Amino acid sequence: MREERCRHEELEFLGGQRTEGGENLYFRCKVCGDVIIVLPDRKKGYIIRGVKPTFPR
Ligand SMILES: [Zn+2]
Repeated sequence: MREERCRHEELEFLGGQRTEGGENLYFRCKVCGDVIIVLPDRKKGYIIRGVKPTFPR
């Protein structure tokens, strides 16, 4: 199985979601379509593949 690691250099800001610890920031990679979630309290990014979160207006 071939695996190419995307560096996620072109990110599109999707929106933020308020939590108890602050605000989660959601980005989507324009190249591969992965969704990156950045948690402010842990200063760490989570990558979710194939997930397309929706943000109600
Ligand atoms: Zn990517």
